[in-house]
Amino acid sequence: MHAVRANHWLILAGLVMGAACGAVAHRVVDRVPEWQRTLDFINTSILNPIGQIFLRLLFLVVVPLVFASLAAGVARLGDPGRLGRVAGRALVLFAITSTTATMIGLFAMNILQPGVGFDPIIRGELMEAFGAEAVRIEEGGSLGGDRALPVVMQVIDATLPRNILGAVVQMQMLPLIAFSLLLGVALGVQPSERRLRAVEFFDIIGDAMVFIVSVAMRLAPIAVFCLIFVVVARFGGELLWKLAQYVAVVLVCYAIVILLLYPLLLTVLARRNPWHVLRACVPVMVTAFSTSSSNATLPTTMQFSQRDLGVRREVSGFVLPLGATINMNGTALFEGCAVLFIAQVFGINLSLSDQILVLVLCVISSVGVAGVPGGSLPLLMAVMAQVGVPPTGIALILGVDRLLDMGRTAVNVMGDVVAAVCVEESMRRSDQSITTSA
Ligand code: ASP
Repeated sequence: MHAVRANHWLILAGLVMGAACGAVAHRVVDRVPEWQRTLDFINTSILNPIGQIFLRLLFLVVVPLVFASLAAGVARLGDPGRLGRVAGRALVLFAITSTTATMIGLFAMNILQPGVGFDPIIRGELMEAFGAEAVRIEEGGSLGGDRALPVVMQVIDATLPRNILGAVVQMQMLPLIAFSLLLGVALGVQPSERRLRAVEFFDIIGDAMVFIVSVAMRLAPIAVFCLIFVVVARFGGELLWKLAQYVAVVLVCYAIVILLLYPLLLTVLARRNPWHVLRACVPVMVTAFSTSSSNATLPTTMQFSQRDLGVRREVSGFVLPLGATINMNGTALFEGCAVLFIAQVFGINLSLSDQILVLVLCVISSVGVAGVPGGSLPLLMAVMAQVGVPPTGIALILGVDRLLDMGRTAVNVMGDVVAAVCVEESMRRSDQSITTSA
């Protein structure tokens, strides 16, 4: 833990320096094209592998960590009434934050309309440059289920597969969550002594996973430098200019969620100083930003919530793994913005009822999004298809998606922390009132 705490400023420095050096490298190659091969070699054979070692170490622990902490979290709560109270509060918060975040995005897109009047030449260029990638994403599938089914059925289909091990092997998190919850409930109704033995066993597994993460985090400053360098050196600034208005609107919406919606919830529901919580979350946000993965950030989220924000293990062990999988406020917001932007560019008019459908589909589909880089793109295409926007239009936004993915992942994981803090405070208050009245 101390290793993680001590180096979060170093990670931030790695992030800033990686972006700065990547931008310089991109400019150099622009002016001296002969250097392109050297830069490609450095990116693919040196920097990307270093970044990947770090990411893989984080991904490696995700399945056992989610399984152990959810099973232990639910079993520890034991009493089904208590489990119901924690789960009920968490799910209501997840639904409220995802819906509000998406509404903020849709509202901003309707008011500012960044896609209206978009230059048709740039549109053609982007479709040509990223069309093949869009088709690849579409062919890659969405939730791993039957894609002929409507989005809602795809989510249900993907939650309860016939073969749990097959699903886990493919890193599908929803079935893992469903199974861990069921196991936790089943352990929770065992006689107390057996239940506590099981909880202890899973706690040990969880702690061991967190230890692996703290070792991986020592690599983080260098790995983050490498990952960001590769992204920025490839990407450059021109595309950003072409899509500047779209990118700016989405980033402003992310900022509204982090700086207004979350502080409001923390103040009203948790009666906590929101700035204290946001400050304590800097390492969590930096990890989310540099990995673009809620799953890879989960171990850091759990550590900091427990030790810096005082969220008890029974709450964090339940709310955070669940949230990292199904509570994707930033993703739902981004999906809404993307559908509307692409519809605007193609001159497709989405009526109020279409947009309500977009809102519902974005919130539901975000539940099934994998917490990995670009995890939402296949589901975004499914949502587009359902409201009559051509899915391959996603090619328009693919070039800048990595940047927006970094931001939405930070919004996603912060949403989980906010939910955990609010549930924690509410449980503490109800525990206190039960003790006082007893
Ligand atoms: N990268 C996001 C996450 O891990 C998922 C997405 O929206 O693509 O939270």
